[in-house]
Amino acid sequence: MIIVPEREIAWLVSDADCFAAVERVFASMAKKSASNLPVVREAIGHLDAIYGVKSGIDREGLVLGLKSGGFWPNNVSRGLTNHQSTIMLFNADTGECRAVVGANLLTALRTAAASAISIKYLSRPDSKVLGIIGAGHQSTFQLKAALQQRAFEKVVGWNIVPQHLARLETVAAEHGLPFERVDLDTLGAQADVIITITSSFDPILRAGQVRPGTHLACMGTDTKGKQEVDARLLANATVFTDEVAQAVTMGETQHAVAEGLVDASAIIAIGAVINGDHSGRVSAEEITLFDGTGVALQDLAVASVAVERAVATGVATTIAF
Ligand code: NAD
Repeated sequence: MIIVPEREIAWLVSDADCFAAVERVFASMAKKSASNLPVVREAIGHLDAIYGVKSGIDREGLVLGLKSGGFWPNNVSRGLTNHQSTIMLFNADTGECRAVVGANLLTALRTAAASAISIKYLSRPDSKVLGIIGAGHQSTFQLKAALQQRAFEKVVGWNIVPQHLARLETVAAEHGLPFERVDLDTLGAQADVIITITSSFDPILRAGQVRPGTHLACMGTDTKGKQEVDARLLANATVFTDEVAQAVTMGETQHAVAEGLVDASAIIAIGAVINGDHSGRVSAEEITLFDGTGVALQDLAVASVAVERAVATGVATTIAF
């Protein structure tokens, strides 16, 4: 069994590796050659932690495994990130445990890859202004990955605690771009692409604040009850997602479906766009929205890359099991 510790991930796996691995597995999911299995996500009744298991099988790449972990809200006071997770990969032919991989950084990278993929396939090619709502742990990864996809000229940001936007200002400056702290009306009026990456349980962005032609990547809502945009804004958009079953139950789409504004049959798997089976954006006036719920197969895809690289570079620890 191979062990790839968390500390090795940063130099083993690049943003581009994660983008390619996630793009490939989204395509596989749409072709039904890869499946995510039912998700377990529960409050454990200890320290307000939420614990879960996400698992899946990619029959094309023969990747079988799970990601286990969750959210421990008091971790910051211990000098740890609140999200903690570990990936296990199994031999798809025998069920033997093949690898254990630290998955904290991989989670951020695969989540950023998903919204970047949505920007590549769904945003207007002439997009110039990137808006970002949220300035927590995931936000800098989101910003870095998004900036690779279009020739953005400016970043505008909003966060409920404005001081936290400083970390996004730093990333924008590293890319030679101006950053403006703005209110939500200004953000919606200026941005061609908007990423939402908060842990909000109430809509932040309203339908009237977003102009035609905008692409939204809603990445924060990964649990029942969370919400980042008004259900009417989602209902006005063409909605794409990683996994329709998750989008309608625990993704941003859950609210519009519950209110009867959107039917699950209208939600498009982004893999269908990657495969060329759906045309994606059809006009410069259309609002497109990617509901990135986060699926196991993203985790397994990037963990497989980490394992391959760890073996190739000799940093993998191998133990008899
Ligand atoms: P974090 O705790 O570091 O940051 C949370 C952010 O949300 C902060 O900017 C905070 O100011 C903001 N926020 C909190 N409550 C808010 C409210 N009521 N209104 C507006 N903003 C509010 O969390 P993080 O690690 O950056 O994760 C952000 C979100 O992304 C979480 O909901 C997390 O579960 C989710 N997430 C999704 C995926 C996925 O695949 N879709 C993967 C990882 C994390």
